[in-house]
Amino acid sequence: MARHKHLPYVSARGANGGGEHVNSQCHGWIGTVPGHQRHVMASPQVYAIYWDAYFRETPAAVTVMNRFLREILRGSYMSRLRQYGVRSGKFVGSRVIVPDPQNPPPSSLTPANIEAQLQSWIKYGTVTMRPDPRETNRLFLIFTPNTTSLGPGLCGYHRNGRYGKSSGEPNLFWAAVQQWHYIVQSPPSPRAFADSCTWAVSHELVEAFTDRDGKGYRTNSGCEIGDICECPVGCPEPKTVKVDGWLVETYWDNQGQTCYPEGADGGVHAGTAGGANAGANGGANGGANGGANGGANGGANGGANGGANGGAGAPKPPRRIPKRRVRRRSPRRSGHSPSRARKRRA
Ligand SMILES: [Zn+2]
Repeated sequence: MARHKHLPYVSARGANGGGEHVNSQCHGWIGTVPGHQRHVMASPQVYAIYWDAYFRETPAAVTVMNRFLREILRGSYMSRLRQYGVRSGKFVGSRVIVPDPQNPPPSSLTPANIEAQLQSWIKYGTVTMRPDPRETNRLFLIFTPNTTSLGPGLCGYHRNGRYGKSSGEPNLFWAAVQQWHYIVQSPPSPRAFADSCTWAVSHELVEAFTDRDGKGYRTNSGCEIGDICECPVGCPEPKTVKVDGWLVETYWDNQGQTCYPEGADGGVHAGTAGGANAGANGGANGGANGGANGGANGGANGGANGGANGGAGAPKPPRRIPKRRVRRRSPRRSGHSPSRARKRRA
């Protein structure tokens, strides 16, 4: 086994706050999402940070997720973001960071914790992408350690802050994703790791791109384009579609007045064909809740709400998932029990 290079956890010194939000009030929303000051990322650049020993032990997981990012950022998935002033994105690099067992990150990670850590990584060159003083395009995507929690049931979120300055417009943009924690202590395969969370990643990406600092596209009640489409009203689980072979969430399309993409590439979409498709989709996504439950609920809700929304089926956001599991903490992931696969693909 390769020797791990450990990096100490750096404590927070304050940062922007903001708790997770529940998005159920966003589901089924219809209208034109206002752009406010149109603070978007016009030409997004994404740098991924894999913050867990798992990624050092499983480099193929990094490879597959990087491939997802590369493909999705330049592919058709981004196309409907043009109306918001966002062009194709670029994947610009990644870094695996293994926490120091002697100085691990806190088991409960706040946005302030993460931002302070990110600042430190950038400052000391651990992370090579650096925001400009007037940065508007660079996004740091952080896969948080499996030994930490952003909050029970939370999938991820995106935030903004400042790097190298204490006032003025935010220039540090980042997203944290912990969705992959839910599959099992150790993802059964690199692809399973990717499939457990590409949909959550896609959600955070499109939202960060179109609302980088809270002054972009969002409804007056704070719903961003991913939140609206993450799932139909009352859905038990975020809904996803397949694009270029990857599971992603749909996002709100102001021009089309629907969620995009609808059932792309053989994916399923609640509301397009009603319960049947939604049920299939629910089954696919519903692995988290158990396929049976997901399929049943997905079908029922998808059929009912999808029609009402005019096909505005949706995926999920910085979400909460109704069912939580109790995680066992263990510094090592090997030899872990069978454990419930929270997310499965169908
Ligand atoms: Zn969201």
